Amino acid sequence: MSIFDKIKKIFTKEPAPAPEKPAAPTPKKGENIIEIKGITKVFDGVTVLDNLSLGIKRGQFVTLLGPSGCGKTTLLRLIAGFETPTEGEIFIEGVPITGIPPYKRPVNTVFQKYALFPHLNVFKNVAFGLKLKTIKDPTAKKGERKYTKAEIAEKVNLALKLVGLEDYGHRDVNSLSGGQQQRVAIARAIVCEPKVLLLDEPLGALDLKMRKEMQIELKKMHENLGITFIFVTHDQEEALTMSDMIVVLNDGVIQQIDRPKKIYDEPKNAFVADFIGESNILSGVMEKDFVISFLGKSLPCVDKGFEKNEKVDVVIRPEDIKITDGAGNGHFDGQVLTSVFKGTYYEMIVLAGEYEFTVQSQVEFRPGSTVSLEIVPDSIHIMKKILTINKYIGKVTGENAVTFCNGEFSIPTAGFEVGDDVVVYVPFDAVELTDDEEDGVIGAAVTQSLYKGTYYQVQVYTDTDEDFYIDTADEWDMDDRVGVKIDGAKVRLEKYDPQEEEAE
Ligand code: ATP
Repeated sequence: MSIFDKIKKIFTKEPAPAPEKPAAPTPKKGENIIEIKGITKVFDGVTVLDNLSLGIKRGQFVTLLGPSGCGKTTLLRLIAGFETPTEGEIFIEGVPITGIPPYKRPVNTVFQKYALFPHLNVFKNVAFGLKLKTIKDPTAKKGERKYTKAEIAEKVNLALKLVGLEDYGHRDVNSLSGGQQQRVAIARAIVCEPKVLLLDEPLGALDLKMRKEMQIELKKMHENLGITFIFVTHDQEEALTMSDMIVVLNDGVIQQIDRPKKIYDEPKNAFVADFIGESNILSGVMEKDFVISFLGKSLPCVDKGFEKNEKVDVVIRPEDIKITDGAGNGHFDGQVLTSVFKGTYYEMIVLAGEYEFTVQSQVEFRPGSTVSLEIVPDSIHIMKKILTINKYIGKVTGENAVTFCNGEFSIPTAGFEVGDDVVVYVPFDAVELTDDEEDGVIGAAVTQSLYKGTYYQVQVYTDTDEDFYIDTADEWDMDDRVGVKIDGAKVRLEKYDPQEEEAE
């Protein structure tokens, strides 16, 4: 049964006609409709997607979520056929699609900017793609033909009905609101019955109220159509509300693929925890199985399997902290710094020692009050640190001079010869950022800043496509241009062995 037969059935409640012959085996809902295998995309020497693999199940509402510039749109454009991968292959229903042009792929895209034809009315905008389409028909002269006017009218009217614009066919598209224009764009994309609908921030241009309404309607459309939706957004709330599955991306690398609740409750790393919802993220040490130490206290937790005294990230959601009046009742005593009413709860910042906890509670404690914070083991989420040291490949270029990331840094080189290739290990606390880019050995841009309890962990991206992680007392803003300096005394050098690197 085609998508539109299905829609027709849903909307008219007519009984479906009996099939004339046994239906071909329909693909199963739980199988992968799209397989993305080892996709890398490089633009002008910059790796935007890095060896990314992903399976997308038939019929699911999958959201690609991540900060601006993480590669979401690029991935969507690769599936649509507007870009070709530098490496890797994408399969749709088992067929490799790299050589197949966009219009021959069983996908259609809805963009943030509606891109409607301004000189055509709503009906003609939706009908446009159908008029160009050739369909197989064994009774036709060449075994194929164009749609008839009546077929086009039926399909367009059904698509308009699905997006709630059945009476708008005659309207000039310029006379429609933003939300209505976006519905026309969706009708235009689904009228050709794609197997996969790609949606690139389709609600991004709408105001908040319209956006919320469209979120609900898109979800309904997904249920009615039964096809696969791949939805791109940087809005975590939107992703959590709408998706069956969320793929969190950062820097062209998948951080986590899970159902919304799991992503929220069990983020895999500090990046996901920070990006999805409010979080308290602290640095801690796993003393032994079931015992975590942070902010100078040892607390029971439910995690095990870490190395003894392994450094970890600790994530605690603001709503999981029990806040009570006065000192001495919980694990940390503190003072309320601010309190803001957020509609159904108060969000308070509580200074405990050197750390500012974000706490949410239905009971308010006024700024200035002394409070106690209690955190039960179940609410302490322990995460492996993704990286513990910066690592680069460099060359000894002089006595106490090592070049890497296109800069010559002053680092003790005893035991090495000029010309030696070396692995350079730079601890996070050995990097210094400077306001003035010229003061650094190399320049970079700030891409992330996470508060970890007593310091900020900042990530910067150099002009040579390398990341530096820095532990610093200073807060830096996203996209700030900075200079990078290094305390050479803290840096460790090792002889570079390409074979060993390869094996790693
Ligand atoms: P946003 O939410 O801001 O749209 P995104 O996650 O969708 O971001 P992409 O649009 O995929 O990110 O871009 C990822 C990176 O690739 C960005 O740094 C972008 O500048 C770069 N990029 C994308 N397309 C091109 C291109 N055609 N040529 C060069 N660089 C590109």
